[in-house]
Amino acid sequence: GYSVSAGIVDISSACNNTTEILGRAELCLAHAKEENSSHVCIFSPEIEQKHTRRTMVSEALNKSIENNFKGFNLVYQPILDNSGNKIISCEALLRWSPNDDRIGACYPDEFIPILENTGGIVPVGYFVMKEAIRQASEWRKKYKKFSVSFNVSYLQLQDPDFVPAIIKAVNMYHLDTSSVIVELTESVLAEDTDMVRNSFKLLRQNGIKIALDDFGTGNSSFWTLHNIDIDILKLDQSFIRGLNTGNNCINYAIVESVCLMCNRIGCKTIAEGVEDTEIWKLISKFEFTGLQGYHFSRPVDNASFEELLQKYHMQS
Ligand code: C2E
Ligand code: CA
Ligand code: CA
Repeated sequence: GYSVSAGIVDISSACNNTTEILGRAELCLAHAKEENSSHVCIFSPEIEQKHTRRTMVSEALNKSIENNFKGFNLVYQPILDNSGNKIISCEALLRWSPNDDRIGACYPDEFIPILENTGGIVPVGYFVMKEAIRQASEWRKKYKKFSVSFNVSYLQLQDPDFVPAIIKAVNMYHLDTSSVIVELTESVLAEDTDMVRNSFKLLRQNGIKIALDDFGTGNSSFWTLHNIDIDILKLDQSFIRGLNTGNNCINYAIVESVCLMCNRIGCKTIAEGVEDTEIWKLISKFEFTGLQGYHFSRPVDNASFEELLQKYHMQS
């Protein structure tokens, strides 16, 4: 259907410079379009502040990209087997230290959407992919069955060169394609373009595993399962994290049935957001293939991850 958005500026207050008023109206309009809850946005100083920070972060991100990805690095969070004693794989997660004191700390929840908006996620995505694969090949030398996953956005699959570049990187490091897992969110899969389809097919043909990230949060969870072959389902943290508090009957039922369903269709499962022993105990009766969460470890740099690999006796 159609929708209308509007940005509103109160001219009686503050400035009377037309360019500025129009600028503010445009800003509010853009804001109204983004927040799809309400389609009207009235100008306020907070909106301007938000915009200023966003512009600042966006410019600093571009500088990092131009500067050979300086400031970007990967951290790794272990994924353990169902016993919780063995690391089977890890998720590579992007971090960024801005070279600008005014920005301070900036986390993925802030900078990833900006990168997706500006298209910066495409070059940065190559950096993530290459670095994750290089690191995987290091760890594979010692730990034979180890695999690494990284996150891929919709825009990256729209790029016809991306999947071939994954395959090239895997070959360059003499890795097994099966040790590479691409994590996609449902929003990626719901975008049913020819290009995304092709990328997807190419991943599968080359034996690269596909994980469906944040399962249960999109609006097409079951549609996705019905239409697309995936190897791993990652049940969103929101179902796991609250399991030990309050009224969790529904979450419990969801977790249980998703596990059952996946076992039935031969899809592997990972529980995200295993934050403490209690939750771990609660979900250990379900047959998840993998467990991920702060209880085992937060995402850590590669040196610390190697220590984890030694500690959690990973099978060679
Ligand atoms: P995600 O893919 O769902 O990644 C998992 C997030 O949950 C990570 O946050 C991780 O630190 C956090 N987490 C892990 N275990 C727990 C837990 O037990 N409790 C809680 N409360 N949180 C936990 P992070 O690293 O801040 O990443 C946030 C999101 O940013 C990611 O969500 C992913 O969507 C995106 N992202 C991160 N790196 C990349 C990247 O390289 N490319 C793309 N496209 N997106 C990325
Ligand atoms: Ca992920
Ligand atoms: Ca996730």
